[in-house]
Amino acid sequence: MEGTILILGAAGQIGTDLVSTLRQKHGNDKVVASDIREPQDPALKEGPFEIINAMDEPRIREVVEKYNVRQVYHLVAMLSATAEKMPEKGWDLNMTTLFHVLNLAKEGKLDRVFWPSSIAAFGPTTPRTETPQHTVMDPTTVYGISKLAGELWCQYYFQKFGVDVRSIRYPGLISWKSEPGGGTTDYAVDIFYKAIQDGKYTSFLDRHTALPMMYMEDAIRATINLMEAQAEKVIERTSYNVAAMSFTPSELGEAIKKRIPSFELDYEPDFRQKIAEGWPQSIDDSKARKDWGWAHVYDLEDMVDDMLTNLRKKLQG
Ligand code: NAD
Repeated sequence: MEGTILILGAAGQIGTDLVSTLRQKHGNDKVVASDIREPQDPALKEGPFEIINAMDEPRIREVVEKYNVRQVYHLVAMLSATAEKMPEKGWDLNMTTLFHVLNLAKEGKLDRVFWPSSIAAFGPTTPRTETPQHTVMDPTTVYGISKLAGELWCQYYFQKFGVDVRSIRYPGLISWKSEPGGGTTDYAVDIFYKAIQDGKYTSFLDRHTALPMMYMEDAIRATINLMEAQAEKVIERTSYNVAAMSFTPSELGEAIKKRIPSFELDYEPDFRQKIAEGWPQSIDDSKARKDWGWAHVYDLEDMVDDMLTNLRKKLQG
């Protein structure tokens, strides 16, 4: 690989895992981690780490030049639940930072860009089961609107300026290394901490709310596989549907109860219930499977086993 990779928003849920996988692959010095804040996980500083506010375009440019960066993974965003509380700020952060990176690539400073979309780009009149790659997209949250607009801008920069930007519509992501950052699927991570620490959990989504989910290891593999695919194989230049599993809070609770029989789960839906009801329940990802060979590994049972094992170790410290 020529040059280095820069991760913006590296201290978050995805970045923490992505940086370590990319560093194992390319070497610590080839992957520059950055965020607006100091990372909680000291591993992020095992290679270069820079404080970057992604709203500050000259600062991104400076770091791109300093490290001869040729690829950027843009992970900065205000997530769904938080952006509903400050819509204009959410829109501004999500769009302005994307333009900074797309414009650097347009200038020829970058060879390739990764920018994630989300199942939040769909909306209430989208077919909710096995949601196709191409379908109605009518998001009702600020976050979803920013993701749909971002997808279209990525496609526009690809078509008009030849910018090689690639994207995935992540489902809810479940991981143990770092905690989620204010999304509607966060319950599926919180539940594990509470199951281990307190033996009980109150879900903010109702028992029958099915949502598409993915274990972080699969999400990282999808991301890197897409970024490494030959350009001709990346046909969809908005964003790819990818899927692994789909479950309700009650189904997740049952899977945890099999391993922790005394675990108790109850439900107090809040404003996030309404957000979840506008999203797909399951995703048709056959295009990603066909175009660049996507295949998931973790199903619900594998994911629960792995989460409990790793979180127990982490919490024992
Ligand atoms: P996160 O909130 O955990 O991490 C985002 C990081 O961005 C944080 O570390 C934060 O400090 C940083 N950040 C915020 N403002 C910044 C700024 N101005 N400059 C630089 N850094 C800033 O989010 P995540 O879950 O890791 O998500 C990463 C991307 O993936 C986002 O685009 C998100 O929309 C998308 N996504 C995530 C999920 C999920 O379940 N985690 C699902 C779908 C899509």
